[in-house]
Amino acid sequence: MMNKKDLLELEAGELREELISLGEKPFRAGQIWKWLYAGELDFRQMGNLPLSLRNTLSERYSAGGIRIREKLTSKVDGTRKYLFELDDGNIIEGVLMQYHYGYSACLSTQVGCRMGCSFCASSPLGFIRNLTKGEMLGQILCMTHDIKDRISHVVLMGIGEPFDNYENVVGFLRRINREDTLNISFRKMTVSTCGIVPKILRFAREGFPVNLSVSLHAPNDDIRAQTMPIARKWPMEELLAACNEYARLTSRRVTYEYALIKDVNDSARHAEELAERLRNTLCHVNLIPVNKVEGAGYDKSSRERTEAFKAILERKGIAVTVRRELGSDIMAACGQLRRDTMLGSGKV
Ligand code: SAH
Repeated sequence: MMNKKDLLELEAGELREELISLGEKPFRAGQIWKWLYAGELDFRQMGNLPLSLRNTLSERYSAGGIRIREKLTSKVDGTRKYLFELDDGNIIEGVLMQYHYGYSACLSTQVGCRMGCSFCASSPLGFIRNLTKGEMLGQILCMTHDIKDRISHVVLMGIGEPFDNYENVVGFLRRINREDTLNISFRKMTVSTCGIVPKILRFAREGFPVNLSVSLHAPNDDIRAQTMPIARKWPMEELLAACNEYARLTSRRVTYEYALIKDVNDSARHAEELAERLRNTLCHVNLIPVNKVEGAGYDKSSRERTEAFKAILERKGIAVTVRRELGSDIMAACGQLRRDTMLGSGKV
């Protein structure tokens, strides 16, 4: 199954070549391309292709190599959580959120993660492999097919570290930006990283205005290293310098994600220190009450602490928001459903 060639991996010209090699007319490639990017990943449903070609395609090729295994829809806000199964049996997650400005898809970039952040649901399950470009496309195309509507925003904040799968991630972003695919503007894409400094600097030079979100979660290296092993590799000073370079080259404001963990990083002193470090930079802080993960031993900061933290940053002139919790009834925070599914099936 795994050795079927994935047509989503191909560029338009390559798809043409592939069809020609099958003895088909080149215009068939254009028809297939249209179907795929409209979200139809089942070759048998491509109604304007001859039956023989539909059969050949289903036998020899795949499209993303992914299927929706389970879907949960929040009764609170309509957020949809998808559990996807890949051709090799691995499981990943994606979340689709509906905002007034359109649909936003949160996608996974790896099966598991090797960054080891101690508050994260994916860490205990370890790293299995990178996702291919086709599998990332497959996630958003399955969602498109499911809702029969256009997705306007993409955030790479699902399972995995996008910059640990750099080439595939950048290839994916460039692909969905094309007018003849999903036509999603780079300004409506966000990549979230735990802070792999050389990759931030490389990303800054790709020449596209994609939003960068950095998981900071601490005001200094000591606290950061308690929860994020990556902090031992690249200190905050280097990280913030790379982020400032990103903001300078792209003119995009960098978002710092800050998960508030009770008694670890949520005091007034921590807020002051954070504000001091971010002073005069083009940034925005997104405060997130930490999601409790079984076994991690962390609790959420209280609402009062969260508001007090926010007020200090505001007073110091830092743009700050508290993340709205969507899909709280369906474990919409990434990694949790996969974790429970794997635990349930005895895979871990
Ligand atoms: N590896 C990337 C993207 C995946 S995680 C990164 O680190 O940014 C997406 C976001 O969720 C990150 O900001 C991550 O730190 C955060 N996150 C992980 N576990 C969390 C939890 N239990 N509560 C709140 N945020 C969490």
